[in-house]
Amino acid sequence: MDFAALECMSCHRRYSTDRAQYRCLACGELLDVVYDFPVKDPEELKTRWQQRRLSDDPIDVSGVWRYRELIPFYRDTSNIVTYPEGNTPLVDAPRSAAYAGLRRLQVKHQGFNPTGSFKDNGMTTGVTQARVLGRNAVACASTGNTSAAMAAYASRAGMLGIVLVPDGQIAFAKLSQSLEYGALTLQIGGDFDVAMRLVEEITADVGIYLLNSLNPFRLEGQKTIMVEMLRQRGWVVPDRVVVPGGNLGNSSAFGKALKELFDLGLIDRLPKITIVQARGADPLYQTITSSTPDHLVTVHAKTLATAIKVGEPVSWKKAKRAMEWTNGWVAEVGEQEIADAKAIIGQDGIGCEPASATALAGIKQLVENGTDEEVERDEDVVAILTGHVLKDPDYTVRYHLGELFAEYVTETSVISKSEPLNSTFGNKPVHVEGTRDAILKVIYEEAARRGITIA
Ligand SMILES: *Cc1c(COP(=O)(O)O)cnc(C)c1O
Repeated sequence: MDFAALECMSCHRRYSTDRAQYRCLACGELLDVVYDFPVKDPEELKTRWQQRRLSDDPIDVSGVWRYRELIPFYRDTSNIVTYPEGNTPLVDAPRSAAYAGLRRLQVKHQGFNPTGSFKDNGMTTGVTQARVLGRNAVACASTGNTSAAMAAYASRAGMLGIVLVPDGQIAFAKLSQSLEYGALTLQIGGDFDVAMRLVEEITADVGIYLLNSLNPFRLEGQKTIMVEMLRQRGWVVPDRVVVPGGNLGNSSAFGKALKELFDLGLIDRLPKITIVQARGADPLYQTITSSTPDHLVTVHAKTLATAIKVGEPVSWKKAKRAMEWTNGWVAEVGEQEIADAKAIIGQDGIGCEPASATALAGIKQLVENGTDEEVERDEDVVAILTGHVLKDPDYTVRYHLGELFAEYVTETSVISKSEPLNSTFGNKPVHVEGTRDAILKVIYEEAARRGITIA
């Protein structure tokens, strides 16, 4: 093998990384990037990564490329397109922990990336590979965050970014990013699954590089989320990593990362990967709990958590593999549970977008009444928050005002207002007369309600 190759996840045929290719030519399955890793001494490598944090070289500053020994496909560092990305916080979330019934919970917040989601971790490697291949145009279908990230990285690299988004079904803030970063933004009639099929058709046999998570180079960058998390924990492996699942690229990347780290001797055990889907967009859950878990059950996806509104997830087999490697599980949670969990993450002063909150909702469910899978109160759990709280302010404000409807569809078009959600942890703005006395009265009442003495 050259330093890196593409390998079919099913029949293990190998292909060169010099060609744009997304599926096995023999069996049509997804590809992995595989390496002859340049790793001799795991402890020395950990020290080297730690030392790079003192460096100002952009590829050391990046929270993806700092770990480049684990993603050595780029041939030459001059090909690397970095913002920089990664370097996201790992923080304690005590209110969220108590809400879920855990003693302690850490969240790794991928929303603190340059365009506000973990898609940046994957886009830096995807666009770098586009540059290795000499491509000038890149394309993706998106529920919003992939397009925001790709638009930014394509422009940074001087490439044309082409984005296919479902008309009126992505959060407004995400659409605004795609426009602002200069991508050609195509609004497609139909949902994400339709846009995904179209973009595969469009990019076949033309010089446009496809940058959905179908592309294995995307997943290589997303692997480093696990590496960074482990480094932040001093390489103490958690019992469990909980991650929202949509098109299932991220959970797939986490599985590959943990397996490689284990095989290379950087960790001595594997955390269980627990994937959480929204109940109206739960094809993996349906599949795993069916009598034929080797055949994908597709669904017509429906959820307000638009980032995971996917009915035919491209990477489901890799996600299933990640579950098998790590003894993991998949759960599904309802719209009310997602909305309330999101508000609790907000009360920790952290915040996230709706899709991210499925992680906390899923933990709570598995602590309280896990049947097939149970989370223990004492478990060491890390939840991955996938996107920033400002990604979907419309949802957040509606929740707090008590105007969120499971059937209220988009920012640009109201399809119907039915299935109202409870504003369980709502924090309504208070209308108050503009006088000192009136304002202070409200303040003292609220302080008393919260048991806080204004000293
Ligand atoms: C893309 C995305 C997801 C889903 O990730 P997959 O890799 O498609 O499973 C979840 N949350 C947010 C915020 C996202 O942008």
